[in-house]
Amino acid sequence: MTADRTAGTPGQGDPALGDFPAHAPDTRRWCFADQLGAHFLDAPDQPVLLVESRAVFRRRRFHRQKAHLLLSALRHRAAELGDQAVFLQTDTYAEALDQVREPLSVCAPTTWPARDFVLRRPGVEVLAARGFVTDQTRFGNWIAHRRGRLLMDDFYRDARRLHDVLMDGAEPVGGKWNLDHDNRQPPPADGRSPVPPPVLPVEDEIDEQVRADLDRWVADGDVAFVGDDGPRLFPVTAAEAEVRLQDFLDHRLREFGPIEDAMLAEEPWLAHSMLSATTNLGLLDPREIVHRAEQAWRDSVAEGDPLPLNSVEGFVRQVMGWRDWIWHLYWQLGREYRHGNALDAQEEVPAWMAELDAEAVDANCLSHVLADVRDRGWVHHIPRLMVLGNYALQRGIRPLAMTDWMHRVFVDAYDWVMVANVVGLSLHADGGVLATKPYAAGGAYIDRMSDYCGGCRYDPRKRVGEDACPFTAGYWAFLDGNRERLAPNLRMRQPLAGLGRLKDLDAVVEQERLRGTDAP
Ligand code: SF4
Repeated sequence: MTADRTAGTPGQGDPALGDFPAHAPDTRRWCFADQLGAHFLDAPDQPVLLVESRAVFRRRRFHRQKAHLLLSALRHRAAELGDQAVFLQTDTYAEALDQVREPLSVCAPTTWPARDFVLRRPGVEVLAARGFVTDQTRFGNWIAHRRGRLLMDDFYRDARRLHDVLMDGAEPVGGKWNLDHDNRQPPPADGRSPVPPPVLPVEDEIDEQVRADLDRWVADGDVAFVGDDGPRLFPVTAAEAEVRLQDFLDHRLREFGPIEDAMLAEEPWLAHSMLSATTNLGLLDPREIVHRAEQAWRDSVAEGDPLPLNSVEGFVRQVMGWRDWIWHLYWQLGREYRHGNALDAQEEVPAWMAELDAEAVDANCLSHVLADVRDRGWVHHIPRLMVLGNYALQRGIRPLAMTDWMHRVFVDAYDWVMVANVVGLSLHADGGVLATKPYAAGGAYIDRMSDYCGGCRYDPRKRVGEDACPFTAGYWAFLDGNRERLAPNLRMRQPLAGLGRLKDLDAVVEQERLRGTDAP
């Protein structure tokens, strides 16, 4: 693991380590569109600068609902702050900053290019990043002592100890750090979610204006979007975020753990919190989320009706484990990490996938997941990893292209979110730095964890023929095509040995070569 830290500016911190001062209370605070909560300010009445840059939307073809969410959140924050904020709507950030004459401070932005930009800008003091449970500098020191061992579980345990979360003295509550043996269960057999759907926000006149502006930009030919427009599904204010959090704690957390990996065709939300977009906009402080989840568990124990610890621990691990881990790795793995392509994957994202054309696809799982992304800009982590990512891994889609696509189509995705998730975890393009083996799976996994296969024209048990499942056949073709690259990996010894037992391997490989990335 090497970090490329070339953007350091004398007098400022190391951008990869986030080694910046913590506070600058007397300056106007420039808040990016993902730094919208009160925890990005040093005082409730601190003057604020907010910038809406149109060029951001011109550069990439985002999901329409993602553009709406970002603009709506920024404009709601400006309205909420009133005279406390200078709100500039310009083409670029540079144009906006040219209009500001007073010194500014900004919490370290969340991407390499944005961090470079603020570091080079005279009159802008860069502060330590906020919006995460754990501290970037401390993580840099922590990882320096790991001797190449990069395990999320190690980080998560230390973070729990340090922040005293779900601890019973020096030990984890319940005696175990990870209670996933009680999770990862298949979906309910009746195909229904055990919890009511989440409380959805109500749009207002700001949303109306955002919608009209986006329509106008598209009509002008200035920007283009993918995905359907639709009612706004995610919070854009701290008040809406609080409703979403409390709704989750009250009605969904209890059921969360066991079905967190399950997929149901008609139940996109299941018991998920849907807090990722909100937290990544900076509307909720993840320390508060973790604290509230723990408090809900402790209250439930005191009341004699305990929330299942596997649900609470699984949720806490998502927020302060995985989320912080992916954030820190974005910086620690350096700028070049995104270009990793250890499996030499050279296919482009196929047009049907890029366009979210669910109707073009027969494979029920892929079609449903694409339709969900088209309709909402959101699916939970398993459709992302085990349907979309699994497909891209098996079919050899370029990691950088897949990272870009996922960044654009998910409402909660940012560069820092997607790079390690896609390059490292999903596509194994880093050669195993983050994941000890590729997340490749055949149709049997999808069949076990969803209700997709029952209504599919393919059969998850078949690998050759008209009804051969593209995931099952694709799995074997993937192993065959990467046999030599994966052979040194001890954890792949058994799956690779399975290849030798397939009498129809040549037919499977030829069939999948012909299928390629055509819509399955
Ligand atoms: Fe997906 Fe294969 Fe199941 Fe069809 S049979 S839903 S393609 S896993």
